[in-house]
Amino acid sequence: MLKKLDEQVKKDFKEYFKDRDYGVIATAEEEAIRVFAIKTTNLTEIAQLKHGLSPLSAVILGRTMAGAILLTSLLKHGTEQRILLRIEGNGPAKLVVAEANGKGEVRGFIQNKHLKAIVKEVNGKRKFNVKSAVGSGTLTVVKDMGLKTPYESTVPLVSGEIAEDIAYYLLKSEQIPSAVSLGVLIGEDGRVKAAGGFLVQPLPGAKEKNIEKIEKTVRNLPPVTELLTAGKRPEDITEEILKGFGVNILALKELSFRCRCSKETAMQSLIMLPEEELNQLLKEGGAEITCNFCSTTYYFTPEEIKNVIKLKNTGDN
Ligand SMILES: [Zn+2]
Repeated sequence: MLKKLDEQVKKDFKEYFKDRDYGVIATAEEEAIRVFAIKTTNLTEIAQLKHGLSPLSAVILGRTMAGAILLTSLLKHGTEQRILLRIEGNGPAKLVVAEANGKGEVRGFIQNKHLKAIVKEVNGKRKFNVKSAVGSGTLTVVKDMGLKTPYESTVPLVSGEIAEDIAYYLLKSEQIPSAVSLGVLIGEDGRVKAAGGFLVQPLPGAKEKNIEKIEKTVRNLPPVTELLTAGKRPEDITEEILKGFGVNILALKELSFRCRCSKETAMQSLIMLPEEELNQLLKEGGAEITCNFCSTTYYFTPEEIKNVIKLKNTGDN
């Protein structure tokens, strides 16, 4: 059981996390309710830059990555266990994938990098219409707990706005009733300005009337990006959600965009190619392999391709 953070640690983490992305896991002091609140502004901006995403594409990938991070609450924190969240809709966004692990590392991609803005008016404010870009389809979660076979479950998209779809997955596949909120705000310059989200879950033994009270608080909260741009931090958001119940911070987690690809992993995918294709690449004077998850391109010289062919042949023997 994690101890409540003392005041000194609280002060230190505020300083350490000043400009970083992180999450706070907290429970209500007097009630069995857990909150996971995250700020993902930097990692969303990094994903936008790495992939060269249009504003709407960045919003959709940003929400999906934040959703994958929130779903890591199903894993053991601090481990290499992973969640892969895949959204496949019939809208122009096509495929969106994000993968997060227990260490707070996340990566992801959206098939359509240059979605044109689809805007709708909500209470006089212009908002991106994520639903119409995603369309209808499915949401799949693959939980890799380091066991032989990863656990995979698919549910239909009930909203297309992503947060509600994740809440539906948690209810249907994990039997965990939850409130999920996700947001990405784009600035005037088309770049990510704020991103984050939160997950609220009653734990066994939570009183119905308190759950209802917190549900009401959550419904009346401003959008998460509005809270973040007003200077609120994840711990402040947990306090807003658990207003009247007292907050017990259990854990803090640094979050970052990190892809595990390398020239070696790129070479593994070259080795998988048939030998004629490798010979063709050799003739063409080299090869490039681009990682889907982070758009990094690895270049292979003819000399390196010759080595790959050699390795392939020794591997076959
Ligand atoms: Zn990569």
